[in-house]
Amino acid sequence: MKFNFSAGPAMLPAPVLKKAQKELCDWQGLGISVMEISHRDPIYVRMTEEAEQDLRDLMSIPDNYTVLFMHGGGRGQFSAVPQNLAKPDATVDYLDSGIWSQFAIREAAKYVQQVNVVAKVTETAAGKAIPQVSDWQLSENAAYLHYCPNETVDGIALHTVPDVSVPVVADMSSIILAEPIDVSQFGLIYAGAQKNIGPSGFAVVIVRNDLIAETCQDKVCTVMNYKVQAADKSMYNTPNTFAWYLAAEVFKWLKAEGGVEAMADLNQRKAALLYECIDNSSFYRNTVAIANRSRMNVPFQLRDDALDAVFLREAEAEGLMSLKGHRFVGGMRASMYNAMPFAGAQALVDFMTRFEKQYS
Ligand code: PMP
Repeated sequence: MKFNFSAGPAMLPAPVLKKAQKELCDWQGLGISVMEISHRDPIYVRMTEEAEQDLRDLMSIPDNYTVLFMHGGGRGQFSAVPQNLAKPDATVDYLDSGIWSQFAIREAAKYVQQVNVVAKVTETAAGKAIPQVSDWQLSENAAYLHYCPNETVDGIALHTVPDVSVPVVADMSSIILAEPIDVSQFGLIYAGAQKNIGPSGFAVVIVRNDLIAETCQDKVCTVMNYKVQAADKSMYNTPNTFAWYLAAEVFKWLKAEGGVEAMADLNQRKAALLYECIDNSSFYRNTVAIANRSRMNVPFQLRDDALDAVFLREAEAEGLMSLKGHRFVGGMRASMYNAMPFAGAQALVDFMTRFEKQYS
């Protein structure tokens, strides 16, 4: 049995992969693959409509929000958001809570007059922490506030939605569908698919209807234009039909598993087990303040980084895959999205406990 702790592309639910394998060459009795029929075929269109409805049910998306299935993954939205939601002379507010926020900030700076960074992660006695919203330097009239509720590389999370007077835009790439959220608190939510939804290169956008194209920049690339994609039901050009199909299957699996509430409970238990192991040891270390710890991505360092390679080799030999930290930060990182069963977290903690005894 392998447990894959990759940050993304990440572990997908085994029943979904098995179903996809079974029907790869014969989808819905057509005798051909889902990748081989037109995206405009009524059977395919019905599948996309069901996928949207399932996502709406899972996230309780209000009727005044449009759901888009788009190309370009998470980073595609780093440029789509400012182009669609802000005029070139606008100011936009961004929280810098880690590496992905910084990439989003750099991209937004290409399209708007000013990107105002409202706050950055600080080192506190309790560890790395995101400043309180009351201490953020918000601008007078930003087009929106962008933040990343779960920083995948840094393992830093903001567990409350900022209460501000402008539309809140959230990069939920590594947290979408992992816990219940109140969509009405957001102007726009986006997520690259390769963690909790399906294959990479695909993205989900949930946008409040009044924000679509009121401010859209003239030259926004048409494939990335929310107004066009909304009017064309995300089929302005040929969508990634296989990714959409797989996402639809993941949504069905999620519903059968008890939805996002059940996932939140599972994710909470997995993360608590791993943090407990880290906190009870002087061999492992996580440097994020408890209030800002991610439940999805748990970075940790070994006391002696000379042991990193041994740790990774022995973990892999036990079927614990992809625990190497991001190349920017080093150390280890365990990503535990919805598809990671509790047994995976348990197997990791058992291994870490044994490893510590052997090498400390
Ligand atoms: N945002 C976050 C929070 C991410 O974790 C990632 C990818 N790991 C991205 C954006 C970029 O996604 P993509 O590679 O699909 O462009």
